Amino acid sequence: MEIYYLTIKEAIGGLKKKSFSALELTKACLQRIKLIDKKLFAFLTIDESRAIEKAKEADRLIRKSTEAFRTKPLLGIPIGLKDLFTTKDLRTTAGAKIIKDYIPPFDATVVRKLKEAGAIILGKTNEDAWGHGSSGENSDYGPTRNPYNLDRVPGGSSSGSGAALASGECLMATGTDTGSSVRLPAAFCNLVGLKPTYGRVSRYGIIAMASSFDTIGHITRTVYDNALALEVTAGNDPYDATSSSIPVLNYASFLEKKIKSLKIGFPKEYLVEGIDKSVEENFYDTIKIFEKLGAKLKKVSLPHTEYAMACYYILVPSEVSSNLARFDGIRYGGERNLFGAEAKRRIMLGTYTLSAGYYDAYYLKAAKVRRLIKQDFERAFAEVDVMIAPSSPSIPFKIGEKIDNPLQMYLSDVFMCPVNVAGVPALNIPSGFIEGLPVGIQIIGPHFKEELLYQVGSAFEQETKFYQIKPEI
Ligand code: GLN
Repeated sequence: MEIYYLTIKEAIGGLKKKSFSALELTKACLQRIKLIDKKLFAFLTIDESRAIEKAKEADRLIRKSTEAFRTKPLLGIPIGLKDLFTTKDLRTTAGAKIIKDYIPPFDATVVRKLKEAGAIILGKTNEDAWGHGSSGENSDYGPTRNPYNLDRVPGGSSSGSGAALASGECLMATGTDTGSSVRLPAAFCNLVGLKPTYGRVSRYGIIAMASSFDTIGHITRTVYDNALALEVTAGNDPYDATSSSIPVLNYASFLEKKIKSLKIGFPKEYLVEGIDKSVEENFYDTIKIFEKLGAKLKKVSLPHTEYAMACYYILVPSEVSSNLARFDGIRYGGERNLFGAEAKRRIMLGTYTLSAGYYDAYYLKAAKVRRLIKQDFERAFAEVDVMIAPSSPSIPFKIGEKIDNPLQMYLSDVFMCPVNVAGVPALNIPSGFIEGLPVGIQIIGPHFKEELLYQVGSAFEQETKFYQIKPEI
């Protein structure tokens, strides 16, 4: 297998044994980008010379002693960063034309931590502008394509991160998940993606979409790699008052634990009309696999599910309209008429739901519904350890299929947005292929129980090994 398709764990093994160098690994990814990214458009900006310089630095450290991996667990690993992550001296556009020339003077906390852990930053990945979208088609720079089928979307809004990793352009990529954006590209690209608990990972330096929903997650090939990346990036940050001080664990140490007798629920409200038959069948197949592994499966209820999308699409645009107000043409340059159609739609909607006379009827009411949805999850977790659900109601759809129908597009995250409304963590893991296209399931857990999601995800991954299936590109 080509080295750009290695998992992080395998790559670190190879670097330690000197089977290849960090420079070779980095060059292999950069070469891959040169070869195929014209077809995919996963990267908006490539930082080639700095990546090469950093790879040489990593090699010097490794040559000195392989002990270097103790303090730098991602040493020499080439990664892509979603373009919503602020990067010092490296262009950051949020997928939006209005800040097309923005060069930030500082690093986001997560970026700083990844750099300190020795990761090599290859560049910035394409995304729906400001994180608004489910397909990547709302990028002001043009859509990213799915490496498993170039006519299909890779899922959004972290579309470039999903496509880049699935096609071997990097070994890990970052994302943000406000309503689905880590999990959906992971599901549509046969990858593992974590939406952590709200507050688990610092939001400092991530261009804000909806501040009470935004979470920072990572997309990886395996559950182990994801656990490693979370350990490196999670934790309290004085620059983000909503970041939690709950201790960060050695998440990878939970992966060998068996899931026998664990109680796994599946919400009955998610298996209703509107879900593709083939996706439903795939989901019932995954239930059988979990039963075979000894887990106890049980139907549970999240009674306010039908209000979740309405609640999300009132609260999120309200916060979006406030957050996007800072791009006023003065602070960052660019003119407000450069906002794309989806950003304009959300600014108008949010301004309306927050305005005098409508605030009580919309914003306040939705905030109350949010509490009910959160309680649904808390009650369910009194009965079961985790829940599982299909990640998306459909297989990766065709580019252009939903772009003119925002409601249809919003519904592609109908199983995911409720998780963000409640603030709980969820992990997408690959659950197979339908018509040659990847699909995934999500494992949803109680607040700050990421280790449990990894434990369950790893058991399923070891049994199925879908991650080994690569696209033909
Ligand atoms: N698709 C959802 C939206 O458009 C979620 C996006 C996200 O998680 N950033 O709001």
